[in-house]
Formats: sequence, structure tokens, C-alpha cells
Amino acid sequence: MISDNFLEKKLHTFFGYTSFKEGQKQIIDSLLKRQSTLGILPTGTGKSLCYQLAGKLLNQTVLIVSPLLSLMQDQVEQLHFIGEKKAIAVTSELSYQHKYFVIHHLREYDYVYMAPEMLQKEEVLEQLKTISLGLFVVDEAHCISQWGPDFRPDYLDLKIIRQKLGNPVTLALTATATPEVEQDICRQLFNENESIKIVRRSVDRPNIFLAAKQVDTQQQKDEYLLEILPQLATPILLYFSSKKKADEISQLLNDRTDLKTAAYHAGLSKKDRYSIQQQFMNDQLDAVCATSAFGMGINKKNIRCVLHYHLPADLESYSQEIGRAGRDGQRSLALLLFNPADIDLQRHLSSNSLPDDGEIEYYFNHKDLINSCLQGSDKKNLLEYYAGRFLTPLKLKQIFKKRRFEREKKLQELIAYVETAKCRRNFLCKYFGEEKKADHNVDCCQPAGQPLVLDNFLLHKPGNNYTKSLEDYRKVISHLFNENKR
Ligand code: ADP
Ligand code: MG
Repeated sequence: MISDNFLEKKLHTFFGYTSFKEGQKQIIDSLLKRQSTLGILPTGTGKSLCYQLAGKLLNQTVLIVSPLLSLMQDQVEQLHFIGEKKAIAVTSELSYQHKYFVIHHLREYDYVYMAPEMLQKEEVLEQLKTISLGLFVVDEAHCISQWGPDFRPDYLDLKIIRQKLGNPVTLALTATATPEVEQDICRQLFNENESIKIVRRSVDRPNIFLAAKQVDTQQQKDEYLLEILPQLATPILLYFSSKKKADEISQLLNDRTDLKTAAYHAGLSKKDRYSIQQQFMNDQLDAVCATSAFGMGINKKNIRCVLHYHLPADLESYSQEIGRAGRDGQRSLALLLFNPADIDLQRHLSSNSLPDDGEIEYYFNHKDLINSCLQGSDKKNLLEYYAGRFLTPLKLKQIFKKRRFEREKKLQELIAYVETAKCRRNFLCKYFGEEKKADHNVDCCQPAGQPLVLDNFLLHKPGNNYTKSLEDYRKVISHLFNENKR
């Protein structure tokens, strides 16, 4: 057994931190005992440090499988920043020569990041086989699960890749996993006879107040935003399910309030996205109107409010997104605006991102053409993945039918969260298979049907444009609320 403060000392030597965050030590301890581990720790709890410190102590190359270019770059930058120069992301951004060099000198790096697609390349795998990996890390491991958000079929091959690499000690990391997703990750990644240590910490973030506000029309939603946003403490992160709406509301806030706001989504150039992200990080923006493209890997400590303008896809995405609030431990607000008409919008988005029967037929009948209407879409990637595994169109139709059904089930759970008249926190914990939390109180959440009192989240800075008294403000809120109840 490692002596009690050995790990603390190393933590301090290598990373300058004085103590571990919850769950980190158990994970590192388990890895040093050469035990494969699944870590389920909420967003912002320092999951990366688990493999970074374990890697240091093992003194062998750590391979990290990560789903997004931006995530990999962010991690590499952070490592470089603290002086860990031997970290690299092997991505399409590298020049051919640079990539070739890295792939043929892997053992010279301490941390190598790759997307699962890169591991499919024979040349990469052959080179990986020649070095002894200290750790095989699967970040954002919910991507493996059919039932997790952000499902990525390429992740399904990681088990085979792992086997080809001689089943190295593995760390799978995710922020949110229902018991079902947890089982799925273990099944899809590990061999049947392997024992896996599971370290799980509650998804609950006690400093985040959970609230939802029902409105009846889109216009009411916008009026409410204009009413409330200038009064709330900043910075604020707003989530939208459409790029167009993110742009519109950003414009509206810039025109009609004093808030300095920008939109962030995949429709912007890389340069613009980077610049907006930097401004937000440096507190030069009060609010960002974003799609789900914004957030993964964004490590801003003082976000005071995460507001959802539209329904997210499911409670996993919701927990991840609201988990970006209050990483400094200060009180923060998670507010979801809910117009029942949004349910159909979300259902449509959810179902539309999966190929339907007609598209499956089209794909198989037009393979020699370039599938013009599917070109470049996620649907085509999904179809390509499955077709490459020799599945018939009939089987594919069954797979996607089942996934649509599962998505609908998750949407229903989300609606149940929005509409619950009981404690929202307990609802979330139960959904993720956790024990009931302490009894509900007014600082915890606002269940449906209860007035929404936001005193704790108002901007009290001198010189702000807040003119109403708290009493007036409360009246406005309860008035709006009662109106909607009618
Ligand atoms: P996650 O992947 O769990 O969302 P990250 O790995 O991105 O979180 O880490 C979030 C932040 O926490 C980073 O800025 C990291 O440097 C910091 N951090 C990690 N471990 C510790 C620790 N033991 N003490 C203080 N800060 C830490
Ligand atoms: Mg992370």
C-alpha cells in the first residue's frame, strides 16, 4: 500500500496542488496497482489529472483517446502551460511530416492524444504495439455507449484495439453515466473476465440551484430573457438547440440590454470561435449564446448561470451543461426555460439526426454515386460505420428504430424533470442511480409550481443597470409565474 501522503507530495511536486479533489486519489491508487478503472466524476472535478499524475509516476507513455480536436488541443495546451512539453495531439492539424515523425517516435512522448479514428489506422496501431503503454485512457467514455449522449460508433472498436495492444491498464472517464451506461461502457471496452474498479462520485453539485420556468409562447420567453438577464450575476452561458436562435438572441441582448454578448456555434469560423472562447474566458463577455458545440473542455470557474433556452436532448446532456456553472464552488443558477411546444422541436432534432428508413435505402442503393444528399452529414458517417460492418439495411433499420425509441424515453425523463413538483436534485440523483440526497430545502431548487425566487443570483455590483428593488423584482417574477400557471 502506498504511504498516505506519498501521492499528495507527488501531486504538489508535479502540479502544485495541495490536495486531491474527490475521487482522484482512489483512481490514481487503483491505476498504480495496475487495475483498470472506470471513473465517473462530475464535470470540473479534475479527471485529466488522474491519468496525468499516474502517467508521471509510471514513467511510461499514456495514450488518451478523446472525441474532439478542440478537447485534445485544450488538454495539450494546458500540459504545455505547466511545463509538460512532451504532450502531443496526433490530429489532422499536424503536417504529414510532423505526424509521421510523432507516430514513429511515440515513446519520446509522455502524453499522446488521439481520436478513435486515428487508432483505426494500421500504421498508427503498429507503432503503438512497439512501445509499452503505461496507460490507455478513454476520455468522455460515455461516447462508447449506445445509450449515452454523444454516441460515436468508432468508439465501439476500442475493445478490439485494446486487445491488439495487449490489453493495457485502462482508465475510462466520464462525467455522467446512468447505471445502464456504466454497464454498457464496461461491456463495450473490457473483456469479460477483467475486473474493473469503479470510482463514482455524485453528479450532484450542491452550489447549483436548479430551476425551470414554464412559458406559453416564444415571445414570452424572449421578454423574460430581456427582463431577467440584465439583473443576473454574470458571466452567463445560454444554450440553444439552433444556431439561428443563438445568433438572434445574442443580437437581441446586444441591442436591448447592456450585456456584452456573442454567439458561439459550429457555423462560425474556427478563428471566430476561438476568439469568442478567449473573450469569455477572460471575462470580456457577459454572456455567450451557444449551441452544445460550446463547453466540453471549457474550464471557466466563475460561470454564475447556465440558462437553457431550449430543451436539451436528455438529462445526461443537461447535467453536463449545467455542470459548467459554479466550478469555483460559489452559488450558481441552472435555469431551464420551457415552452411545451419545444418538446416537438427537440423530438424532431433528436430523431432527425438518425437516418430514417428512406435514407437507409437511399444509402444502399446509391453507394456508387456519392450519396449526394447525405454527403458530409453525421448520418452518412453513422451509415458508413455500420455498413462497413456488413450489416444489412433491415438490421440497420432495426438498430435506428431502437435508438429512436431510447431517445424518446430519455426525452420523456427530461420532461418529467422539468415538470416535477418534487425536489429536482433528488430527481437527478435518482436518474443517475444515486441515493436520495438530504431533504429538500429552499436553497436547493425550485420545483414546478413553486415561485421562482432568484435573489441569490442577482448582480449586486455597483454601477450596474439594476434599478428595481428586490421587492419589485420578486413581484415581476411571481406575476409572470402565476400568469403562466393559468
Ligand atoms: P474534468 O475533466 O473532470 O471536467 P478537468 O480535468 O478539465 O476536469 O479539470 C478541471 C480543473 O481542475 C483544471 O483546471 C485542473 O487543473 C483543476 N484540478 C485538477 N485537480 C485538481 C486538484 N487536485 N486541486 C485543484 N485543482 C485541480
Ligand atoms: Mg475532462
